[in-house]
Amino acid sequence: MDEVTGTVLAGESYEPIRGRLVVEDGRIEAVEETDTESTDIVVPAFVNAHTHLGDSVAKEAAVGLSLDEAVAPPGSLKHRRLAAADRAELVSAMRRTLRFMRRTGTVSCLDFRENGEYGARALREAAAPVDVDPFVFGSDDPAVLDVADGYGASGANDDRFDEERAACDARGVPFAIHAGEPDATDIHPALDLDPDLLVHMVHAERAHLDRVAEQSVPIAVCPRANTVLGVGDAPLRELLDHTTVALGTDNVMLNAPSMFREMAYAAKRFDVSSREVLRMATAAGAEIAGLDCGVIEPGRRAALVVLDGASDNLADTEDPVRAVVRRASALDVKRVVG
Ligand SMILES: [Zn+2]
Repeated sequence: MDEVTGTVLAGESYEPIRGRLVVEDGRIEAVEETDTESTDIVVPAFVNAHTHLGDSVAKEAAVGLSLDEAVAPPGSLKHRRLAAADRAELVSAMRRTLRFMRRTGTVSCLDFRENGEYGARALREAAAPVDVDPFVFGSDDPAVLDVADGYGASGANDDRFDEERAACDARGVPFAIHAGEPDATDIHPALDLDPDLLVHMVHAERAHLDRVAEQSVPIAVCPRANTVLGVGDAPLRELLDHTTVALGTDNVMLNAPSMFREMAYAAKRFDVSSREVLRMATAAGAEIAGLDCGVIEPGRRAALVVLDGASDNLADTEDPVRAVVRRASALDVKRVVG
């Protein structure tokens, strides 16, 4: 049995409770209100809802490039760098990124992995010795589902994906697709595929939002990546008012996959509460991938980030949720549990 004490951001509302968590066999047994000396802040570990870990071979290589030049298949800088990397280099680069993610409080990510079965297998190998369990959205070929957990499509303007959609249905695994990143033209075609997850939706308009709500499609947003690529700002308030929205850091090439940085950026740039942002960084991604973490409550997996609430950075903050979302950094992490 393990015990974690401090200010616990418990339940779906992340209500701060002074007390302790009882952890048994990796699961939360109890959340108890009790006197404690601990100044730690305990939050659910993060689930990064959209990454491209393969880009770890080309960090900061695309500065100043457009979306097409940087990441669009098949001729962009990203794809040229992926083609040029040998397998050992790719695995090693992705593994280092996964270690960084773990140290910054992330226990899982929903990754779009390029290069079919080869790419999906390389990511599994990279993750094997690291305590981050990526949910792998494979690509290129429906047969990638032998290795991947779902299919991740580049976008409905790039190709037809009916076969991949059908393969996901047949196996009961999710089909995800980018939509509305440079413009709105691929959003209706993406929604026609009845996706289980849309990524970006920067250019979502009212008719798209109505369909998203009607079809109950969750959305992963990546605010910093949108800024770096200059595609605009997603209508985050409106998206949240229509469906489940989760937060992702997108291409490792463009941004460090730190959920602290993504949360602070989202909280300060958009009309959203700190609680909404924390949910986007934890429970929302977990829910989309069917993971048993993201909320601190009895029965759940004990995947937790323990922050030093008395650090030079976090001391004297007035509200623990705001402190975690808007101010905390990797330096405040004491340990990541589970
Ligand atoms: Zn993406």
